[in-house]
Amino acid sequence: MENINAWSSEAIKDYEHIFEEFGLSRFSNTEISDSHLFRREIIVAERDFSKIAEAIKKRQKFLQLTGIASSGDLHLGHKTDIDFYLEFRRLGAKSRFCIADIDGYVSRPDSKVPSMKTAKEIAVRNAADAIALGIPPSEIYAQSNMPREYYQLSFEISKKITNNMFEAIYGHTDLGKISSVLLQIADILHVQLPQYYGRAPSITGIGLDQDPHARLTRDVARRLDYNFEVPSFFYFRHLSGLKEGSKMSSSAPDTAIFLKDSPEEVEKKIGRAFTGGRESVEEQRKKGGNPEVCKVYEIFKFHNPDERFLSQTYSDCRSGKLLCGECKKNCIEFIKGMLKEHQEKHKQAIPEAKRIVLGSKSLSE
Ligand code: SF4
Repeated sequence: MENINAWSSEAIKDYEHIFEEFGLSRFSNTEISDSHLFRREIIVAERDFSKIAEAIKKRQKFLQLTGIASSGDLHLGHKTDIDFYLEFRRLGAKSRFCIADIDGYVSRPDSKVPSMKTAKEIAVRNAADAIALGIPPSEIYAQSNMPREYYQLSFEISKKITNNMFEAIYGHTDLGKISSVLLQIADILHVQLPQYYGRAPSITGIGLDQDPHARLTRDVARRLDYNFEVPSFFYFRHLSGLKEGSKMSSSAPDTAIFLKDSPEEVEKKIGRAFTGGRESVEEQRKKGGNPEVCKVYEIFKFHNPDERFLSQTYSDCRSGKLLCGECKKNCIEFIKGMLKEHQEKHKQAIPEAKRIVLGSKSLSE
């Protein structure tokens, strides 16, 4: 059996057993959006998504909470989380985006995030990335900079989870990870507090490896004294790392393209990426490549919404007309252009990001 570990950086290889074992439904509501994220089978599963689909179709109120842990700089995998956030926002979700700085510190080893100060520094850069990608600053918050009702909710959540439950779900009772789970549940549920948007269906997009959090959140929501609507979830494929078999992760910098990467780093990383190419040019011309296993094609699939370009790349690769050298060059140019624009916006967003994470005092810094 494949292990689902919420803190792992291993890629999930076998999606099939997960549907059976965890009772997830396959995602079938592709018609609610014309975004490439919905067209390209990037969403693989859901829990209770019908409530959200109905709210979208009937233009009724629904909420969204998405977040990222401040354990490192954002890479292209995180950009997908944010692209989904922006799409659900466009579909009408009242939205909040969490920068999980407390989670980033308390649930990671000191070798990765040595102090809360470091987590906040990372959080500022993460918030600036989120703003640069298009999330309005008013929707972004940091866990460490929230009003008291949020912390009260997270302590109340602790009353609903026993050590045995935690151990059964996660296989351990690490206190840092317990604290981060309590906050994550508060993140997902706080949007329904009267101080925010009030009771309504809510949606959160996560990777399949985060499903333990989703199951626990739904269970706790039913048992809290707040009359919360049980949250819905959708599960999307992670953009895999540039090498074979890995998830794009900040723990393995050589396999990830970070939003802060220089043009030279982009060239180097994509130049070395695993492809579905053949041993020799002659063989590839004759037999064609395999885009299904190719990391370069995967980057296009997740990040280039141009349908015509994607299908042309696919058929030219299959026919042997396109070789990996040229294809990588296209990918390098595409990513370099995207990051250049992003990095300019990121710089401008830093003062606003500091205000979000550190409070108004930091504005003078
Ligand atoms: Fe991948 Fe492009 Fe090579 Fe095909 S031609 S295997 S899509 S890099």
